[in-house]
Amino acid sequence: MADRHVRDDTRVVAGLAAIYCSGFHRERVRAALSSEAAGLGVYGRRVPILCDECAGHIRYAEKRRAFCPKDPKPFCAHCDVRCYQTDEAEWQRQMMRYAGPRSMLRGYAVPAIKHALEARRWRRQMAGKNTAAVAARERNGTN
Ligand SMILES: [Zn+2]
Repeated sequence: MADRHVRDDTRVVAGLAAIYCSGFHRERVRAALSSEAAGLGVYGRRVPILCDECAGHIRYAEKRRAFCPKDPKPFCAHCDVRCYQTDEAEWQRQMMRYAGPRSMLRGYAVPAIKHALEARRWRRQMAGKNTAAVAARERNGTN
């Protein structure tokens, strides 16, 4: 949590979760997140408001992010380590699908744009790799 990137990522994920939670769990009891990162002041004055269930997912996400072995960290969706449990990864996918587009209007425009740019760069890289692999196969006559 000493690393700026870890803190930034943690804030964004929890902020998106708060958007998701306010969309789906309005009828639940929701409170300012109490977690290790919150205790360390990572969220400053913008502690995300979450229900118990979402808070549990975010406590999990905080830990995964803090212990991520990759530096720089790729998008979790593009990573080969896959440190998330399947159900946690699935929750995060659902949550981001809902909160991602809405985050632009709620103070997360900069991370959203960064995310879009990095995703595009990654897709280009992958496209380049595939082209190279096809070319290599053709050269070797194993196609
Ligand atoms: Zn919730």
